[in-house]
Amino acid sequence: MRIACPACEATYEIPEELIGAGRRLRCAKCGHAWLAQPPAAAPGAVPAGRTAAEALRDAMPPPVPEDGRADAARDLPPPRPAPRRLPQLIDPPLPRLGDNEPPRSWLWLAWVASILLVLVLVVAGWAFRDDIVAAWPPAARLYQALGMMAGR
Ligand SMILES: [Zn+2]
Repeated sequence: MRIACPACEATYEIPEELIGAGRRLRCAKCGHAWLAQPPAAAPGAVPAGRTAAEALRDAMPPPVPEDGRADAARDLPPPRPAPRRLPQLIDPPLPRLGDNEPPRSWLWLAWVASILLVLVLVVAGWAFRDDIVAAWPPAARLYQALGMMAGR
């Protein structure tokens, strides 16, 4: 049977046995792929005694079937990159400075309480500095020094 590429009009003489009930073909000229289907009144159209090999010999260069081996090789996904490996861990991690004693929960609690107490004292000392200076005038010098440190 004669099949024409719908894209570039190139015609191919293809034995119907190769098409069957329909087969996707790729045009050897322009690369367009389409579904080739036998004519509606096809059954029995192939002359008896004519083998597919003989038909192939008579045929023009047929389009490359899309499920051909060349396509399969081209469509293979690229090889996956090897999974990244983590460096081998040899020694236990070095202790950080000042981390010689493993901290215990009560120790952290004491630290947090101390820091909070200092913060409260600093904030209160700054908020009530006027009262404090009024009650204890030498504190004025301390606040002056603190203000200079703060860039005031
Ligand atoms: Zn074509």
